[in-house]
Amino acid sequence: MNESALHDALARYWGYREFRPLQRAAIEANLDGRDSVVVLPTGGGKSLCFQMPALVRPNDGLGLVVSPLVSLMKDQVDGLVASGVAAAALNSSLTPAERREVYADLDAGRCRLLYVTPERLVGEGGEAFRARLHGWGVRFVAVDEAHCISQWGHEFRPEFRRLGRLRNEFPELSIHAFTATATRQVRDDIVTQLALRDPEVLVGSFDRPNLVYRVLARTGLKDQIRRVLERHQGEAGIIYCVSRKEVEKLASWLDGLGHHALPYHAGLPDEMRRRHQEAFLEERADVMVATVAFGMGIDRSNIRYVIHAGSPRSVEHYQQESGRAGRDGLEAECVLLYSGGDFAKWRQMLEQSGELSENARRLLRDMERYAAGTRCRHRVLLEYFGQTDERPACNACDWCLKELERVDDAVTLAQKILSTVVRVGQSWGVGHVIDVLRGRTTDQVTTRRHQELSTFGLLADVPIAELRGYVDQLTEQQLLLRTDGPYPVLQLTDDGAAALKGLATIELYRQPRPVPGQRKRKPTGDPAAWDGVDQDLFDALRQCRIEVSRARGVPPYVVFHDNTLRDLARRRPTTLPELLEVYGIGARKAEDLGPIFLEVIRDYRGEPDTEMAEEDQSNRPDPEA
Ligand code: ADP
Ligand code: ZN
Repeated sequence: MNESALHDALARYWGYREFRPLQRAAIEANLDGRDSVVVLPTGGGKSLCFQMPALVRPNDGLGLVVSPLVSLMKDQVDGLVASGVAAAALNSSLTPAERREVYADLDAGRCRLLYVTPERLVGEGGEAFRARLHGWGVRFVAVDEAHCISQWGHEFRPEFRRLGRLRNEFPELSIHAFTATATRQVRDDIVTQLALRDPEVLVGSFDRPNLVYRVLARTGLKDQIRRVLERHQGEAGIIYCVSRKEVEKLASWLDGLGHHALPYHAGLPDEMRRRHQEAFLEERADVMVATVAFGMGIDRSNIRYVIHAGSPRSVEHYQQESGRAGRDGLEAECVLLYSGGDFAKWRQMLEQSGELSENARRLLRDMERYAAGTRCRHRVLLEYFGQTDERPACNACDWCLKELERVDDAVTLAQKILSTVVRVGQSWGVGHVIDVLRGRTTDQVTTRRHQELSTFGLLADVPIAELRGYVDQLTEQQLLLRTDGPYPVLQLTDDGAAALKGLATIELYRQPRPVPGQRKRKPTGDPAAWDGVDQDLFDALRQCRIEVSRARGVPPYVVFHDNTLRDLARRRPTTLPELLEVYGIGARKAEDLGPIFLEVIRDYRGEPDTEMAEEDQSNRPDPEA
């Protein structure tokens, strides 16, 4: 397959100009009939890797896509059909008539891509279905969300295990596994379970350059949330909470403030959860306040922020959950609001549920290190997943953006804290140490006569959260140690003792006082993302997208992604050829949706409908078609 044929297809069906990293290699492996494992982060463009080969293969045939998520399946098929690709899905949501139609298309060779659930393919009664595959000219099998096959993954699904039999039954097919899960163990397990033959293993970078990471000590949750929301008026976001109670509380508070916020957690009735998820995906709600129960199957690509109201229990969880922002590649913001106490709470909760293994403790410590960390967030995340970052600064995290203030005399400050830890006998928790430093005469302070210590009240004017932040940083720099157990106490390490004697260089940072009136819609990140975009026109186009999406019964991002709307509001095309220049608009979409959106642009510019009428009257497509 020559290069230009692939590029042509990319432009024609998707309206994109360049391949993303590893997409070409993945497509070529498929076209060469070579098994593959493709690991790309969320939003990395995995679907295109298996959709494209089905389209460009010279002598037709069918690509089979196995996916566990019926809702995602429907979105992908809708999206493909909207772009002019003969795709179909077989799953339990079809009516008998619809199912017959799909089978008729398959028998007649009219279908290029078929989505099925693992149950249909290898579940009970799957033999009959598999027997028909030969007749349909299947060329390859793509397994999406392939980590579900591994019990090491976080979403193990036993029914995926049976996919292993495909290799024996269809030795002539190539098998391609796709996942966003980064760990090596899961990757190796996928290869074994699917019995892949000398697969091409393609692992992309796990960095998500368009995400801006921020970590803030939780000083006032509602205030901090409000400030993030102010930067994202009218945009979509998720707020993750640790408890259901907090979900309810925050959701109704936000609702009271006039946001379209909905709660989501496992304690709500199924029916309500489904309704809320749908409302969010269809852009009838902007903010989802949720526990981790909200996750699988969120395909909304224009989520512009993810806030964590408390720390998750591992970096993997954080990566997964925050990673739901910015799937469309546009700038998005991930804010972690945490306190050192979150980790103690997790340990307690995990202990109660019997899940506090050595591994779970380690994962928590890693998460704590990330939160209190004093380095580039992108780099820390990448290193966590075993990759390296060559860039000197990412320009997309609170450290690199220099949002944190360096403390001038960190050594003295650290010594005040360390020496208090020593003076209270290394047998008190962070709360008490801070009480002493701030000069509070609590019962515990007076009974121990800690008000007589020379460090008592030495940092009376420093806010509690800020002090906690310093303790966290000293812990992260391994000068202090927080013991495990139900009542963790602070102790000095050897390095801490050296620091007390002035034998160490120490850096400490604090969060800046809030700056009021941050600019709307620019949480930094990629400054070019809104360059030249007429925001009012963008809003008008967005409204139009919602109307089209309702009329057609598909989610808005199936109509156009946000980056396409922005490019439209930047270029303001008025003719079909101009429209084809726009990011994400291929021939089919230009024909189908062009007239509707061009009209919005013309209306907005206050121009009469002349140009199109003169140019294309004869073959102008019917917008209702
Ligand atoms: P994943 O499944 O890896 O999370 P998707 O396949 O959903 O990611 O793709 C994420 C987004 O990126 C989609 O909107 C998709 O259309 C877009 N995309 C994929 N490939 C490209 C490309 N080469 N250029 C621009 N956008 C792309
Ligand atoms: Zn950085």
